[in-house]
Amino acid sequence: MIELRDVHRRYQRVHALRGVSLTVEAGQRFGIVGESGSGKSTLVRLLAGLDRPTSGEISFQGKRIDDLPERRLGFLRSELQVVFQDPMGSLDPRMRVRDIISEPLGRTDRARVAEMLAAVGLPADSGDRYPHQFSGGQRQRISIARALAPRPSVLVADEPVSALDVSVRKQILDLLADLVARFDLTLVFVSHDLGVVRRICDTVAVMRHGEIVERGEVATVYSAPRHPYTRELIAAAPNLHAELERLRGR
Ligand code: ADP
Ligand code: MG
Repeated sequence: MIELRDVHRRYQRVHALRGVSLTVEAGQRFGIVGESGSGKSTLVRLLAGLDRPTSGEISFQGKRIDDLPERRLGFLRSELQVVFQDPMGSLDPRMRVRDIISEPLGRTDRARVAEMLAAVGLPADSGDRYPHQFSGGQRQRISIARALAPRPSVLVADEPVSALDVSVRKQILDLLADLVARFDLTLVFVSHDLGVVRRICDTVAVMRHGEIVERGEVATVYSAPRHPYTRELIAAAPNLHAELERLRGR
């Protein structure tokens, strides 16, 4: 579905991605973990065609996208959709929810809006309202409805619950897991929180300073991390660490 080969992204002084290579297969739930500043969001922008690599190749469904002009990225925009961390920042406050959800379709489709509102568990009359009339969790449901409206095959979620109250995080994660299964999506899920990735992903890549230092099946990487940095991250997450120790029977 997605392939990156030796991708670099430099900003003036910052070398945000330093030779990232990875493959995401159709149907995978691919987690990307790493501390703040490790290059996760830069990677997301490149995958979504919102930014270009300084060097290296990016392919989507077998087609190179890194060298395509903007006007030829239309297929990517409908096939791959992104949910961002901050639902308030990514929803236009002056637009009705109906128009927000329809936006990626390029036309208002009331039937599709109704279907998407139901899919994300929002009341049917939500389309008439504006983003500020909803709670943080509900706004993230609106973002998810908008992302799924064009029926993408890939959903990319960049820290989708990090800005939410702890009390609603689990609901939104369960919703995402449910929708990924129901719509047969390939998921790329980005988080600084290893526990969250473990709950929702089957494969994980660990990023540090713009590089992938370890990748593998979630069960393997978490129970037998090979890279010292992965071990450090697990040790720094007390609840996760305790649970993994319990699983090992210690
Ligand atoms: P993460 O999402 O893992 O927190 P980012 O991809 O946002 O990491 O950032 C990686 C590095 O690139 C950071 O040092 C950040 O400051 C830098 N960076 C990201 N975007 C830009 C930009 N547009 N201009 C300059 N530096 C940037
Ligand atoms: Mg980020």
